[in-house]
Amino acid sequence: MSYKASCLCQAVHIEINGPISDIIHCHCTLCRKSTGTAYATNGFVQWSDFVIRNGKESLSTFEFKPGRKRHFCKHCASPIFSSNESDPSRVRLRLGILDSDIQERPLSHNFVSSKANWDDLDASLPRYDAFEPSRDLSKTSGTQS
Ligand SMILES: [Zn+2]
Ligand SMILES: [Zn+2]
Repeated sequence: MSYKASCLCQAVHIEINGPISDIIHCHCTLCRKSTGTAYATNGFVQWSDFVIRNGKESLSTFEFKPGRKRHFCKHCASPIFSSNESDPSRVRLRLGILDSDIQERPLSHNFVSSKANWDDLDASLPRYDAFEPSRDLSKTSGTQS
């Protein structure tokens, strides 16, 4: 298999030439803050399967705990992966940056004890393919959020 991933501004292009394992939705405080979302979806990729095709010089890091770094695009701030010096053979990929459909599937929701109180995992909220119908699009430009 070969999967492709990229950041929002397209400066960073990643190629993954192997499986993604241990995919989970992480609701921990660190993941919520670093993504600005209810949870992050992360999975392991072997370093040997992980190729930074373009934009290595566009990556910056934040060491959030000793030896543990979050790697992100310094132009658009997309989170790309994290690394852990005590687990040097693999990276923890942020799955939202994938451009490819993948075969693997998430296994669980983790750290639910620190999930946001507005994040209801079992919510039977309506689902839309685009904006919710009540959104006043005249007040927004662009297509997102
Ligand atoms: Zn970028
Ligand atoms: Zn987390």
